[in-house]
Amino acid sequence: MSGDQRGVARVIDGKAVGQKVRDEVKTRVAELKARGIEPGLATVLVGDDPASAIYVRMKHKACLEAGMKSFGIELPASTTEAQVLEVVDGLNARSDVHGILVQLPVPQHIEAEHVIDRISPAKDVDGLHAKSRGLLVAGVPGLRPATPLGCIRLLDEIGCDPKGKNAVVIGRSLLVGKPVALLLLERHATVTICHSRTKDLGAEIARADIVVAAIGKAGAIKGEWIKPGAVVIDVGTNRTEQGLVGDVEYAEAAKRASAITPVPGGVGPMTIAMLLSNTAQAAATAAGL
Ligand code: NAP
Repeated sequence: MSGDQRGVARVIDGKAVGQKVRDEVKTRVAELKARGIEPGLATVLVGDDPASAIYVRMKHKACLEAGMKSFGIELPASTTEAQVLEVVDGLNARSDVHGILVQLPVPQHIEAEHVIDRISPAKDVDGLHAKSRGLLVAGVPGLRPATPLGCIRLLDEIGCDPKGKNAVVIGRSLLVGKPVALLLLERHATVTICHSRTKDLGAEIARADIVVAAIGKAGAIKGEWIKPGAVVIDVGTNRTEQGLVGDVEYAEAAKRASAITPVPGGVGPMTIAMLLSNTAQAAATAAGL
């Protein structure tokens, strides 16, 4: 972590923490291999969305670097839902595949929920299966979504214990906002979830010891709303003429926060790292460890 030249906040270095997680996973994978278990992740890419293809390639490379096996299944955009389900069934049945990830979005004629819910919950390393979501709500151990897990790991790394703190999550998507709020609740924070109909966002955020922004609107969270000393985790990833920016007005927020994630280089690098961690966990669990 380094001090921020532009303000007083400590900059939370997601690249460094992401690398630390990857190194931990590599060690775990080596231990598993020594016991004859070689963790493997299968990615399913349907169609030719260029951004999705890049994400899948990044995941493949990260798997190999961690010493895991990676199986890339690429299907044409014309593939029917039934055919994708058949592919998932095949992967569910393979003993060398411990994690299955369907790259989203899938083409419109395919219902993403149908495909995700076909994945064996034990291999649901994206944590998006209905069962994984239910376990999260119930507070029962299971596979959790990678980006929200990454947010919590960043808090842990800077020694910010959510217990008893006021946490405000802005955004209520199934992918980020809701799971991150539940993970904070699991860690005993008092959690408020805000969204597009929240009446006074500024007033809610002003009470927050921990702010997690997951909206997808550049600079929508004003720096002046941040309570002095708060920790700010900015999940937002917005392409602007100035480049990639978060949801939080960074420079202003950094003058008030005690710690803040930059965009890029904050939450972003955590997602793949936590996905690898989930795959190693799934492989260990499958082996009864
Ligand atoms: P999403 O599904 O579009 O959800 C956005 C949420 O923000 C919704 O709940 C929406 O409220 C709320 N919202 C929108 N405008 C708002 C406003 N002005 N004030 C308060 N709340 C507002 O987006 P998502 O998938 O959760 O992603 C959120 C952001 O995180 C995006 O920028 C995405 O690119 C980024 N992201 C980054 C990573 C990563 O870094 N690895 C991973 C995933 C997502 P309603 O529910 O009322 O509509």
